[in-house]
Amino acid sequence: MKAKIKAFMDEVKSRNGHEPEFIQAVQEVADTVIPYIAEKEIYNGKNILLRMVEPERLVSFRVAWVDDEGEIHVNRGYRIQMNSAIGPYKGGLRFHPTVNASILKFLAFEQVFKNSLTTLPMGGGKGGSDFDPKGKSDDEVMRFCHAFMLELNRHIGPNTDVPAGDIGVGAREIGYLFGMYKKIRNEFTGVLTGKGLSWGGSKIRPEATGYGTVYFAENMLKTRNENFEGKTVVISGSGNVAQYAAEKVIQLGGKVVTLSDSSGYIYDADGIDTNKLEYVMDLKNNRRGRISEYVKKYPNAEYHDGKTPWDVKCEIALPCATQNELNEEDAKQLLDNGCICVAEGANMPCTADAVHAFHDAKILFAPGKASNAGGVATSGLEMSQNSLRISWTREEVDERLKGIMSDIHDSCIEYGMEENGYCNYVKGANIAGFVKVADAMLAQGV
Ligand code: GLU
Repeated sequence: MKAKIKAFMDEVKSRNGHEPEFIQAVQEVADTVIPYIAEKEIYNGKNILLRMVEPERLVSFRVAWVDDEGEIHVNRGYRIQMNSAIGPYKGGLRFHPTVNASILKFLAFEQVFKNSLTTLPMGGGKGGSDFDPKGKSDDEVMRFCHAFMLELNRHIGPNTDVPAGDIGVGAREIGYLFGMYKKIRNEFTGVLTGKGLSWGGSKIRPEATGYGTVYFAENMLKTRNENFEGKTVVISGSGNVAQYAAEKVIQLGGKVVTLSDSSGYIYDADGIDTNKLEYVMDLKNNRRGRISEYVKKYPNAEYHDGKTPWDVKCEIALPCATQNELNEEDAKQLLDNGCICVAEGANMPCTADAVHAFHDAKILFAPGKASNAGGVATSGLEMSQNSLRISWTREEVDERLKGIMSDIHDSCIEYGMEENGYCNYVKGANIAGFVKVADAMLAQGV
């Protein structure tokens, strides 16, 4: 089996050159899915995984825009349409200076499995740009978004490809993108999700990734007769996912002691309560400040410059910042400190070695494609509401979200349970996600 996996990965590497994040994401899937394929007659000899690794379409384009001083800038825009076997391409747009083909391909690849797990009919895609919204004026962000959509619009549509937000793309950017799409196409459709509530957005969409991650962790904890009540929780990040993960943990009686950004983390031994979290939301969303400002407002807290929060003692860790933010050493530190559950709110925040350490220690570990699927699932619910031209109540969407997270958890158990009674959620998520897409691809022919 090892030789089979190696041969497959050699082929993937030879086709994809220097794309470390993409190869990392494919390796994880190959390790778990190739042994499964070998057991199943129907998938044999169909080269199904190799077909899934190759994007159906990859668009790269120039985005030129003018800043407030009249200077012209050039960025690169992308849309990766990875797989449309079970529905229109669906996935976020990321605006961040680190964006490149490798990062977007890994995200698009993971999205295929994630979307399949949601039980909703969505294929997988991802896009974005190396544009950095940080430090840009509102007008500059608007001009960039308009220039970006001027090209992107010809590749997307409510039945073709439905982008949404990701890092650097929130409600403001979705608004500007939607405005330009509507102008060009003269149509008001659900072509983007994460829209404002008054113009087609879904209730709970902003909260969904963070809430969903916590609902998923709740399901995991339940398998060991545990819950969030009284638990110390370390969260990284301070953007949309981290904020709402923290909100839900607090609601469930857990104590959130950290948040972070790319500069460092804050540690509040008293716990970040609802009022303090409100301050963080205002800081990050409106004033777009750094997390370090927290300690000026709450001097009992500590700020650790240039560090990640994984050396803080906790029972539950929710990495909600970005890819590869938690390495093997961090994982060992968490384990030494008694951590029992790690659920990824970001996409692939744990390195492969970190995941192995969690598995070896037999603690609860959920990969982002399962635990953070609540965001895209609620995007799927936004699409449904747009098609029906109705909007569901907050309670209705939240109930559906909870149900979907619990269904994803069940799928992980179904495909990931090992003989020793330990659930390998990585294996479970990969196989469950794979089966649905592979069956559709087989049915539709080569
Ligand atoms: N960017 C989110 C993710 O990684 C959401 C995508 C969407 O809503 O389409 O799943």
